[in-house]
Amino acid sequence: MRNILVLGATGSIGSQTLNVISKNADELNLIGISLYDDLTELPQILKKFPNLKYVWALHPDAKKYPQVTFVNSLEELASLPCDLVVCAIVGFAAFKPLVSAIKTKHNVALANKECLVAAGDYLNALVKKNKVSIYPIDSEHSALYQCLKGEDIKSVKRLIITASGGPFRDKKLSELKNVTVAEAIHHPTWKMGPKISIDSATLVNKGLEVMEAHYLFNLPYAKISVVIQKESIVHSLVEFVDGSIKAQLGVPNMEVPIQYALFSGEHHLKTDAYLDFNKPLDLHFMPIDEKRFKAVKLAYEAGEKGLSYPLVFNSSNEVAVQSFREGEMAFCDIVPVIEKCLAKHTPCKVSSYTDIIRVDEEARELALSIIKEAKK
Ligand code: NAD
Ligand code: MG
Repeated sequence: MRNILVLGATGSIGSQTLNVISKNADELNLIGISLYDDLTELPQILKKFPNLKYVWALHPDAKKYPQVTFVNSLEELASLPCDLVVCAIVGFAAFKPLVSAIKTKHNVALANKECLVAAGDYLNALVKKNKVSIYPIDSEHSALYQCLKGEDIKSVKRLIITASGGPFRDKKLSELKNVTVAEAIHHPTWKMGPKISIDSATLVNKGLEVMEAHYLFNLPYAKISVVIQKESIVHSLVEFVDGSIKAQLGVPNMEVPIQYALFSGEHHLKTDAYLDFNKPLDLHFMPIDEKRFKAVKLAYEAGEKGLSYPLVFNSSNEVAVQSFREGEMAFCDIVPVIEKCLAKHTPCKVSSYTDIIRVDEEARELALSIIKEAKK
């Protein structure tokens, strides 16, 4: 039996992780979760998972739930004895518990990509020092992980990350002026949390994923490319030096990569996500129009420059997306805010925990001031 802690248990990835755990109840045991500011799902979760003992929530309610222990912090939760920590909190908010999990020598199934982008070198060094493994949950990176299994990394010509292109793939730039939050959140092939849905609409998500792949697989940016795959069936590909290409395919269902990560990179029964080849299956690939979707180009530039650039890319995007969701700025202005932040910030090394926290705070302030300035 493997004891599992799930950080961000009520989100899109978190709730699908709980589904995977309950389908595999003979092998996986949920022992701790984090919620955030909403406890409404807790009674149902406790009913389904009787062994659940530890909970972190922003506003704990110890009297109402005497059967659980409310821990004092996310870091404390992430450091409890267990066999695997699933990191499904959205954004840089996952950084401290992620560090805590790795320092406790826990293996991590990682859905969160923002932390890896913001602090990739720091986290990779920590992973190495503590001899733990990171199993990617992000579907593209799970696909790359599977394609690379058993291969010599030296024989890889490039990683090819697929992108659906988001809800506005075929729209003209002029049509994107008055995009509403609801339109931006409506993704054509995946049902995800609001932040990543907006990131998919701007293609910032693909930019983050390029940097995520760089840190996960330790390959230079020149060996990472992106292609649009309309149907979200081919989750990513690896091209080898001899021209041979391996791809991972499957229906767009996050339970597949989640389960694969929960079993430390092994295929297992219990999902019912099968591609039906009795029906015609069309797969369309096309290049990304970098002029329309500047986010991917910006991400490559930030990644290549290194230092604090990837971190600032992430922090400024988080602030811009939040402002858009609050009606403070237009959808079209999200990527320009990132671009301005990258240009305006003073690049520096982000080698330590405190550097990372400080530069993230500074980048957020800079992004807010840029948004405020634009409103004048
Ligand atoms: P979501 O918004 O649905 O869920 C986020 C979870 O984090 C919730 O449980 C929420 O309560 C918690 N949370 C939010 N802010 C918090 C804070 N400040 N402190 C503690 N907890 C907080 O998001 P999601 O779509 O499940 O995405 C989670 C992560 O997984 C993101 O980093 C995303 O990029 C990545 N991811 C998601 C998908 C997907 O299909 N949803 C696919 C690939 C990668
Ligand atoms: Mg993805």
